[in-house]
Amino acid sequence: MIVAPSVNSVVDRDEAHWKVAGRPSRIIVDLDQIAANVTFFRRLVSPGTNVMAVVKADGYGHGAIMAANAALDAGATQLAIATVDEGAVLRAAGISAPLLVLGPIEPSELPSALANRLTLTISDQNFIAAVARAARGHGPDRRVPVHIKIDSGMRRFGALPEDVVPIFEQISTYPELQVMGTYSHFADADGASDQFSREQAQRFNACVRLVRASGFSTGAVHLSNSAATLRWREYDHDLVRIGICLYGLSPSPEMTLPEGLAPALRLQCRLARVTTLAPGDCVSYGCAYIASSTERVGLVPIGYADGYRRGLSSRGVMTINGIESEVRGRICMDQCVISLPKSSGAHINTVVNVISNVSDQPNSVASIAKQLGTIDYEVVTGLSRRIPRLYIKRRQVVARQDLQTVSLLDVP
Ligand SMILES: *Cc1c(COP(=O)(O)O)cnc(C)c1O
Repeated sequence: MIVAPSVNSVVDRDEAHWKVAGRPSRIIVDLDQIAANVTFFRRLVSPGTNVMAVVKADGYGHGAIMAANAALDAGATQLAIATVDEGAVLRAAGISAPLLVLGPIEPSELPSALANRLTLTISDQNFIAAVARAARGHGPDRRVPVHIKIDSGMRRFGALPEDVVPIFEQISTYPELQVMGTYSHFADADGASDQFSREQAQRFNACVRLVRASGFSTGAVHLSNSAATLRWREYDHDLVRIGICLYGLSPSPEMTLPEGLAPALRLQCRLARVTTLAPGDCVSYGCAYIASSTERVGLVPIGYADGYRRGLSSRGVMTINGIESEVRGRICMDQCVISLPKSSGAHINTVVNVISNVSDQPNSVASIAKQLGTIDYEVVTGLSRRIPRLYIKRRQVVARQDLQTVSLLDVP
């Protein structure tokens, strides 16, 4: 899945790294920054509260295996993913920490979920017997760890409050199931008002009290995502589920991140062609850009199929040697064209910073999200696997993941 490169050198003297990338486009993920972001939260939360690192969607586009290992090394105690196969990938990579599947799964996924020792989310009485049956199929002493998810107001996924105690009652009749946690999810933790979050927390806390008063163990209680954890200590409980902030990105454009959190990812390309436009020349599909004067432009080997979205046509900004450079014309599937200001000193092979890891830059994930009218989450999860990921630790490349490290399975 991930290949350890044979080359090790300092990142910015980086000819060797481009060879490791194997393509004139690369994502660099700083594992030390992910670790620092985990450390930030471990210091922030209440004593006794643990950090669960959310690495769904391939670690928010950063690569789940390396992000998970960095988070665990920095003291996260558990991991969360959205689907069974995301969990299977982490187990295949040798990760042994508890892995909670946050999303709903189908009965057909149970054999794989159990084989991979995943912790399942239960929110529906109808699912309980199916899990127990699958557990029996896995051997006599097999206990499946589960967390109960309560819908405290988001109306997406979870048991309604009135169904929670019946779910615990039913689970208690199956020795195959072991309740390891009880949780809910905020709908508006990043909102301007905390009103709705308070209502959700009250409903959730009432459920937890009722479960305990009925004689059942809730296991680890958890409620907060990144935004809630940044804002409130009173909802820390036993665990906080940190996703977007693990990667140093913000839950919403309205939330400025505190010092100590910084983006872990940047994206660079090398210029594949440099040419000069004459006045009246047009650029790319649809001739959407027409040069009004003589202008040097460069070809960047990145396009919307890489996740550099077409909405950035004629609007995106990259930097070269610290100088801003604008996208000219439409973003194509695999390539786009940028202006080359003289002061940039750009020539063929010059490194272009397509996405910066500095939050206030015009090409940061946050700036790109703003330009596209979306959120940081969508920008990074949309970065395709075609861009090789290089992982650095103490400024050394320690691993690479690319299209060729993704294998194909035979379907029997
Ligand atoms: C994705 C997710 C999280 C993480 O949210 P962030 O905003 O990325 O911190 C936490 N809990 C649940 C249930 C999720 O689906």
